[in-house]
Amino acid sequence: MSLSDKLVEHIRDNGPLTVAEFMGACLYDPDDGYYATRPNIGGAGADFLTAPEASQMFGELIGLWCAHEWDALGKPAFNWIELGPGRGVLMQDALRATQRIEGMHDAANIVLVETSEPLKEEQAERVPLAEWAPRIEDAPPGTSLIIANEFFDCLPIRQFIRGEDGWHEKLVGLDDAEKLTFGLSAAIPAPESEDELGTVREIAPGLESLIYDIERRLHEAPGRVLILDYGYTKPEGADTLQALRNHKKVDPIERPGESDLTAHVDFNHIAELAEAANLVVHGPITQGAFLRALGIEFRADALMRANPPHTERLKREVHRLTHADEMGALFKVICLSSPNLPPPAGF
Ligand code: SAH
Repeated sequence: MSLSDKLVEHIRDNGPLTVAEFMGACLYDPDDGYYATRPNIGGAGADFLTAPEASQMFGELIGLWCAHEWDALGKPAFNWIELGPGRGVLMQDALRATQRIEGMHDAANIVLVETSEPLKEEQAERVPLAEWAPRIEDAPPGTSLIIANEFFDCLPIRQFIRGEDGWHEKLVGLDDAEKLTFGLSAAIPAPESEDELGTVREIAPGLESLIYDIERRLHEAPGRVLILDYGYTKPEGADTLQALRNHKKVDPIERPGESDLTAHVDFNHIAELAEAANLVVHGPITQGAFLRALGIEFRADALMRANPPHTERLKREVHRLTHADEMGALFKVICLSSPNLPPPAGF
């Protein structure tokens, strides 16, 4: 039975799903979910191209950022954790860029937090020394440097839309032909508000527990998490649920489990949750500003000098990662740290 048929049957028996329940099923259904079955990241015919897949410089600079922070912590033994590593390209590039940093690799215990079996296999090819954990709390205790690129955008969201008579939750139900369709709940009465009719608000119910897991780790032992993702600092009031197949935006409700579903990340909410948990917050700043502060131009120059025929490609990659028209502005970076550490590089 296809995921679509399973969802239709479930809705017939139990009523409509929230967008978060629908998104969760599409991404994580153990038999037919996108990540469990056909994650298609990077490479030819991929559904989407992430920053580490677009340029080796991304993972290299993040590796050097980690080296700087490891040094600032006093060069301890540490867990080098990546959340949702995809094909493992970022960690592979980070390891190559730091291989001459004395003592760092010996001090590092590499932990990849991943649920997708096919992606774990890809990661093992690129990062053979890693160990895997299904969740952050399963990583060994101790000092941690944690990287999360395009991980938070997979968190399922619920959506609420402002109507005349209050807020309506967006739901996934069935049309007359018993096909999946978006609909709205009855109104949840709400006081007058400045939000225009049609304004969409999104919440990620899993965000609090994810920040809680990070917070517990960063209070038990020193460390930082660097979160890079596309998202906003002020909600735009728009629907950000997006489905990508073969680099094209497709209707999220069609062919469940066959496209990558994501939503924009609410960076201000991450900052608020982290501050309430007594973590120290740096950013959010744009990915462009962060990579320039880490010296992406210098890294590109060095690679061009070593390999002049690649000059044009490297220039295009810098543009793609940092320019406001590409990934430079929509993508943001935030760093959450244990209390009493020096400020992190790049902010
Ligand atoms: N960071 C990578 C891949 C981003 S795609 C890159 O930048 O290329 C999202 C990744 O997160 C995939 O590896 C996916 O399998 C993983 N993932 C998504 N939700 C997860 C969860 N709840 N727990 C663990 N891994 C998850």
